[in-house]
Amino acid sequence: MTPSTQQTDRSQPLVVTTIDEARRQIMQARGAGRKIGLVPTMGALHAGHLSLVNASRRECDLTVVTIFVNPTQFGPNEDYSRYPRTLESDLKLLGEHQVELVFAPTVDQMYPAGSTTFVEVGAVAEPLEGVRRPGHFRGVATIVLKLFNAVPADVAFFGQKDYQQSLVIRRMVADLDVPILIRVCPIIREPDGLAMSSRNVYLSADERRRALSLSQSLRKATELVGGGERNAALIREAMKKVLDAAGGVEIDYVAVADRDTLQELEQLKEPAVALVAARVGTTRLIDNELL
Ligand code: AMP
Repeated sequence: MTPSTQQTDRSQPLVVTTIDEARRQIMQARGAGRKIGLVPTMGALHAGHLSLVNASRRECDLTVVTIFVNPTQFGPNEDYSRYPRTLESDLKLLGEHQVELVFAPTVDQMYPAGSTTFVEVGAVAEPLEGVRRPGHFRGVATIVLKLFNAVPADVAFFGQKDYQQSLVIRRMVADLDVPILIRVCPIIREPDGLAMSSRNVYLSADERRRALSLSQSLRKATELVGGGERNAALIREAMKKVLDAAGGVEIDYVAVADRDTLQELEQLKEPAVALVAARVGTTRLIDNELL
């Protein structure tokens, strides 16, 4: 192979679509002594996903990105069918970030007819998103465990953007003795503060402006805590005020909770996290900030 064809090969990741082929690739790389990093995504990639890719590339020798819009984590009235699917441009981006291997299975590959086993994580999956999206974390935990089995990596990278999800996955890995290290990377934001999300493409210009109130409410919480406020109810009220002032923002929840259990706090003593979920138009957005 000439150096130029090697270059061309490297500019597009190898895409595998079956579990057998994914495992074969990983076993081969492991056999060669390479440390494997896994970045699970639903595609429609943005700078948030790419920050996970970069974290994996820093720590691991081979980075595998999975792209799979997982039907079992969407509720019946959620956006599964209209979720953005942009495989071609995703692959181009990943090639530009030197990702060598992408696992992009079909729904039939991950859930063949007759599959009935699910992972239930328990307490940490119950509040907040667990209340508003029944069955969501059951679907998330199940697909993530299946992806860990298809791509047996050393380290898996997740975003703090989905804070409760990261706790659910840590819990599952600990409880089921899954031999993988979990890293949670910081939230990547647009310059004006909006947390990057594949769902931001749903927002009209007007909604995009209103959506800024989520990160603004979290900044308000940080400011209050910085100024010495320790009354969690007061902080939640101040956050709600910011969201209400934006207009057209329908709050799902505003929480100031324990960082590990997500139980609502009365007083901030232990390290806490502020979380917010709201609907802007038909788009449901979430964001959070450690306090
Ligand atoms: P998704 O494709 O939305 O399932 O996200 C795949 C991974 O990217 C998850 O671990 C997310 O938490 C992470 N992620 C999504 N948005 C961001 C962001 N703005 N900053 C950092 N990580 C993110």
